[in-house]
Amino acid sequence: MNINRRKFLQNSAAGLAMTALAGTVTTACTKSEKKSNAKNTACLKISLQESVTPGNTLRQKLDFMESLGIAGIEPSGHRLRERLPELKAAVKDRTVKVSAICAGFSGFILSPYPEERQLFFESTQEIIQAASELEALGVVIVPAFNGQQPQYPHTPETRKFLIEQLQEIGQIAALYGTSVILEPLNRGEAFFLRQVADAASICRDANNNGVRCMGDFWHMTFEETSDMGAFLSAGDYLQHVHIASRKNRLIPGEDGEVDDYVNGFTGLKMLGYDKYISYECGCSGDRPTLIAQSVKMLEEQWAKA
Ligand code: MG
Repeated sequence: MNINRRKFLQNSAAGLAMTALAGTVTTACTKSEKKSNAKNTACLKISLQESVTPGNTLRQKLDFMESLGIAGIEPSGHRLRERLPELKAAVKDRTVKVSAICAGFSGFILSPYPEERQLFFESTQEIIQAASELEALGVVIVPAFNGQQPQYPHTPETRKFLIEQLQEIGQIAALYGTSVILEPLNRGEAFFLRQVADAASICRDANNNGVRCMGDFWHMTFEETSDMGAFLSAGDYLQHVHIASRKNRLIPGEDGEVDDYVNGFTGLKMLGYDKYISYECGCSGDRPTLIAQSVKMLEEQWAKA
């Protein structure tokens, strides 16, 4: 393990300071006023994946986000270490913070080949270190995509193996003051992990502060019977949310009336969810206009929930 404990402690202090500031920098945040039987900390914090955001440069992208009161940016983990100085400088003195890091690792956990797993551990550890420096809440990971073959079969033994592996990588993430975030996908992409409750159950059994999960409204559309139920089942293990339109995976709102997130938002409010909801989607029209309309729509739906 290549762990710099001093840096971890510095990062922890920075993380605590950031937590103390949360809510003061984000104009899009609103206190939950109803249906919150929990901590009453629920807050709509919108994030955009970097590739979703209009702009030719990082500065233009961040300017666009700030103009709409967007709270977070989600970069890819690909080449993250190389990009670290650029990203750190870009978000310094901004209201926009790095929300989470989306994948970018090599190899995969559920490979029967030790060298593939080693590749996963080494690349993910590198991304975790960068995520920590960026004060991101976590690094989104998928245990195995359907196309990654051969992979261990979907059995109780594989689940146990997965948990052992997650405990190891989760311990590193926790030491760096961040997390690995398990993302359930739809059955066409990753049959091994499809539902938010299953991901949360894996987090519970891993019993490690560095292992967390998320829900992606796009995948949830196919796999969940209730958005609210799915989020409630995740409880405090819920670390991140992805969002897209519900028919074509475009900007939320592009698919019209089916882009209804009120039920899911109700669950998030009940949890007191105060982490990010991040756009991971394509766009079929004028990006700045559609994102501005979409943010307004989500704010209205959040208010209704
Ligand atoms: Mg996603």
